[in-house]
Amino acid sequence: MRDRDCLRRFLFEQLPIRGQLVHIDAAWHALIEHREYPEAVRDVLGEAVAAALLLASTIKFDGVLSLQLQGPGPVHLLLAQCTEGFGVRGLARHRDGASASRIDELVGAGNLTVTLESEDRGRRYEGVVPIEGARLADSLQRYFENSEQLPTRLWLHADANGASGMLLQKLPGDARTASGEDAAIEDAWRRVQLIGETLTAEELGTLADSEILRRLFHEDDLRLFESAPVYFRCRCSRERVSGMLQGLGETETRALLVERGNVEVRCDFCNRAYVFDAVDVAGIFQGPSTGGGTSIH
Ligand SMILES: [Zn+2]
Repeated sequence: MRDRDCLRRFLFEQLPIRGQLVHIDAAWHALIEHREYPEAVRDVLGEAVAAALLLASTIKFDGVLSLQLQGPGPVHLLLAQCTEGFGVRGLARHRDGASASRIDELVGAGNLTVTLESEDRGRRYEGVVPIEGARLADSLQRYFENSEQLPTRLWLHADANGASGMLLQKLPGDARTASGEDAAIEDAWRRVQLIGETLTAEELGTLADSEILRRLFHEDDLRLFESAPVYFRCRCSRERVSGMLQGLGETETRALLVERGNVEVRCDFCNRAYVFDAVDVAGIFQGPSTGGGTSIH
């Protein structure tokens, strides 16, 4: 039985190579329970969420890591987000007929963007690569090649039951290593990737982490760390929705109020409803103009 809702780090004892395995289960169901995604869209979303977790696991940050796919295809937007502490959320917007199994047909000739935003929205990193290849992992590989980051490979799988992923990353070599050692490390990195290629979707989705690693890397000395929990976490709040209504403008918001008696905004990520009556709406637009919508709370 495989590990559930967790992220687990492992290390090659004799090589400058590390890895991560991730599985999302309850978090995956929470993420898709209010949505009826076509299978192909659901599976790419699951892979994107697993990838966001794996990317987040390799860096230290205190904000949000977003993985976004945008293109002219039937799925015009797909977003997976991971906060520090491994809380995830995600959504996809699609037209009818989103059934292609290849991501370059599903999203089309668009872009994959990885964004890192700190909690105070100050620091921001963004990397963009074109979507190419059949699978999300192909575009992610291009992302790692282009962004001058550590050599990294990902394997991803998602279905109705959950999403899983494995990451392998080559760590920077020691400046003192001899060139012969460098070549040996390169050979080892190639070998480890080739072995990674033999991991099947079924193995990744059903086997325990220890079993996956035993099957793949039984020749290597591996250290497996304690797993960290992964969970569904939406970042929406009444303050954020108030800010959004401020952005929409007073005239538009009041028109909605007149039409429906109150203004209801439903979060696209978690389906939570935020309801604003006439008094609430008045409060939003009576706040100081420089307050940015936080004054009412
Ligand atoms: Zn929400």
